[in-house]
Amino acid sequence: MQTEEIVLRLEPWRVKQRRPAWKPLIEDGEGAATASKFCGTPWTGPDAPWPDCGHCRQPLQPFLQLDLGDLPAELGQPFGIGLLQLFYCTRDECEGYGGWEPFADDLSRVRVVHPSGPMPAASPQRVSFPTKRIVGWDRFLDLPKPEEHRELGLKYTYDHKAGTVRLECEELGLVFDSIRDAYLAENVANARLGDKLGGWPAWVQNVEYPSCPRCERRMVFVFQVDSEHNVPFMFGDAGCGHITQCPEHKEVVAFAWACH
Ligand SMILES: [Zn+2]
Ligand SMILES: [Zn+2]
Repeated sequence: MQTEEIVLRLEPWRVKQRRPAWKPLIEDGEGAATASKFCGTPWTGPDAPWPDCGHCRQPLQPFLQLDLGDLPAELGQPFGIGLLQLFYCTRDECEGYGGWEPFADDLSRVRVVHPSGPMPAASPQRVSFPTKRIVGWDRFLDLPKPEEHRELGLKYTYDHKAGTVRLECEELGLVFDSIRDAYLAENVANARLGDKLGGWPAWVQNVEYPSCPRCERRMVFVFQVDSEHNVPFMFGDAGCGHITQCPEHKEVVAFAWACH
């Protein structure tokens, strides 16, 4: 059986897994202190000062600020309100000293702040990356990476000697045997690369949803920050970063990245 036909027969499964996702539409320029943006100057205040790197102790570079109260209406504000901010240390001397693990607070810092009152006049202004304001969203439908298929009901059994794969979907009562397509899983469903809001994470290695340190719930995917897309920075060797949030504790957010 051809891959196209298998994908067609699995359409009910694909429909169920499809999630809306949004690619940010950007314009050059700073915008308001509280605007959604890549890099630039984020909102900071007395209760939310500009964070320093846990290694070199220098001010971190802003990577992303997302106004959670001003996201596409279709999302239904699942991430609460406030500004989601991601900072990262881009200094050469810190490379290799972490940044990839959630909750490590070493080279990265992610948080939700609630702006109130005026911004302090003197921000550290270690802004070396050009600001890109997020002025809109381009909606598309996303699907899960092969690494998540098993949990979602698709079982692949590879026969490497024969160069074939068997695919079972119990839910639909389907079994496809002796399929010659090394990329069958990718062809069935894959997550989109690049910066995006919502959808499915394009995991680089394994499925890595962190657990909330307070309630142990699996955290949900919020935003994907890819290497050299809107932020001119490479996570390791073309790695990809993910911001996640506890579905219960909206202030518990995490950032992690992985590369090959
Ligand atoms: Zn540093
Ligand atoms: Zn929690």
